[in-house]
Amino acid sequence: SIPLGFFGGIGGASKLGILIKGGNYLEALADTELVVFDKTGTLTKGTFKVTDINPVGISDTELLELTAHAESYSNHPISQSLKNAFNSEIDNSRITDVEEIPGHGVKAVIDGKTVYAGNSKLMDKVGATYSHNKTVGTVVHVTINDIYAGYIVISDEIKEDSASAIAKLKACGIHKTVMLTGDAKDVGEAVAKTLGLDEVYTELLPIDKVEKVEKLLAEKSAKGNLAFAGDGINDAPVLSRADIGIAMGGLGSDAAIEAADVVIMNDEPSKIATAIAISKKTLRIVN
Ligand code: ADP
Ligand code: MG
Repeated sequence: SIPLGFFGGIGGASKLGILIKGGNYLEALADTELVVFDKTGTLTKGTFKVTDINPVGISDTELLELTAHAESYSNHPISQSLKNAFNSEIDNSRITDVEEIPGHGVKAVIDGKTVYAGNSKLMDKVGATYSHNKTVGTVVHVTINDIYAGYIVISDEIKEDSASAIAKLKACGIHKTVMLTGDAKDVGEAVAKTLGLDEVYTELLPIDKVEKVEKLLAEKSAKGNLAFAGDGINDAPVLSRADIGIAMGGLGSDAAIEAADVVIMNDEPSKIATAIAISKKTLRIVN
């Protein structure tokens, strides 16, 4: 049975917008040893802005229009930003096929032409030759009928709360903070450095993230727990694999909220340290 004091801890957390889905997770939180973060939507806002358009063989407007149409069915934060930048109606009658390729991008048929939009991994898969200037930001490359059509650079911002989130975790005795991302090496490493994370792993596919978490689980001490925090776009398998899966409830997908043990309603990563502090305090009272 659950000690009565646990209800106080869970209730107190919920008043702060932290939903803990049971006494066992409250208990597990108190022994958190390392916290692993997803980048996009968790430590960064996940609201990308288009900062550069570099078409090849077509105009800026055509490249943006085509990419926005190719991305129109995706829920990824990247796709949202491209649709925002396009800022016109999507003509659904032009789109006859769409496919999301997790960790890579999208494939779509627009005006009867096959369009791929995504990262360099996707270009390698398609066999397209691409290049880009040294830029800070996430690069979305585009091909039309297997011919390279240029790239769009988009930039995300670190959440105001993220630096203090990491500092608070260190202050409450967390041994290690780690970031996993599918984004490019330069982008991921810049974010990790700014925030003072202990480790960062980049260019990971969703399956690579699961593998990385399994490795970190094997390396940690027997009594310490691994918490994983993600916005859940493609992250549900990692959320369920971690000792404690934490989802960002605002931006997060329904699948993530379902798979998570703890939900942070307002998406502030510093609430993870708050949840750990509440759990430690509750356990001190109960025991
Ligand atoms: P993260 O680990 O940062 O949350 P994801 O696993 O969701 O990232 O995506 C990894 C990478 O795959 C992105 O940085 C991007 O390069 C590419 N990608 C994923 N979805 C899309 C999309 N809809 N359009 C373009 N690129 C995408
Ligand atoms: Mg993600």
